Amino acid sequence: MRALVAGGAGFIGSHLCDRLLREGFRVVCLDNLLTGSKTNIRHLLKVPAFRFIPADITLKLPVRGGFDLIYNLASPASPRDYLAFPLETLKVGSVGTMNLLELAWRSKSVFVQASTSEVYGDPKVHPQPESYWGNVNPIGVRAVYDEAKRFSEALATSYHRTHGLPVRIARIFNTYGPRMKANDGRVVPNLIAQALAGRPLSVYGSGRQTRSFCYVSDMVDGLFRLAGCSSAGPVNLGNPREFTILRFARLVLKLTGAKSRVEHHPLPEDDPVRRRPDIARARHLLGWEPRVPLEEGLKLTIEWLSRKKTTRAPRRWK
Ligand code: UDP
Repeated sequence: MRALVAGGAGFIGSHLCDRLLREGFRVVCLDNLLTGSKTNIRHLLKVPAFRFIPADITLKLPVRGGFDLIYNLASPASPRDYLAFPLETLKVGSVGTMNLLELAWRSKSVFVQASTSEVYGDPKVHPQPESYWGNVNPIGVRAVYDEAKRFSEALATSYHRTHGLPVRIARIFNTYGPRMKANDGRVVPNLIAQALAGRPLSVYGSGRQTRSFCYVSDMVDGLFRLAGCSSAGPVNLGNPREFTILRFARLVLKLTGAKSRVEHHPLPEDDPVRRRPDIARARHLLGWEPRVPLEEGLKLTIEWLSRKKTTRAPRRWK
């Protein structure tokens, strides 16, 4: 079995490559390294069943076909990244997704599109089931990501309707774990890095907004199972345990033992107030639900981020 992972050098993409290899797939990873990193796949570069091709999927693809399974995870995903690369984000979600769908159609392969909880925007329905159409500001700053992913969903669904392509859509909720960039701006690496450095923890707005955090191994398990199910409709993947950002900050302080204080900063524009997945569909279709409690996943992430810090530090001291 041969799989292609676009965005395979990214945070979730690289963990997915690991999993597919463990499951016996030969894996081709495409990534333009705009926000992904070769460090995430360094341990795979000498694995015979793995091949990395540096490539931008919005251009001519460097592969012809012969894939059983294609995953599209190529996109900047953290708000800081997609706000820094707005046009690239829109282009990879539209042109990039279309190029991959054409490849999937030629290959007769299963196509899995990584979508996002951001398709629900600032949701008026809580928790969010897949049947909710969302509340997205189409000209707001976050629209570059939200609308790109909504368009990807529409495009993939149209390939399914028009050509009968076996399409799966994962709506990925906040995911965290090792290989997140310490400086990617998201709340998990931000607050951990700040706590480890003894700096104040930056909480945006009142901190009463909520998120639900899923550990990366759970997410990858959901993505893997999704490929094997037969439904083309979207499936929420995420952990339904909901936290306010303030409570999350207190947990980071407890687990790191840091004495930092919380420092409030302005809330970013269009920041969703509440977010929590309804995962009934994933439970039913995939027999899936997250297993790693936040405390446990955070410990692993803290360990990883502090190891990174100590291995990088000597170079700076030379
Ligand atoms: N946030 C925060 N401090 C930070 C980074 C983020 O309080 O240093 C907040 C952000 O405003 C949002 C939540 O944490 O309400 C999650 O933000 P993140 O960027 O991780 O992901 P999002 O769910 O917004 O895409």
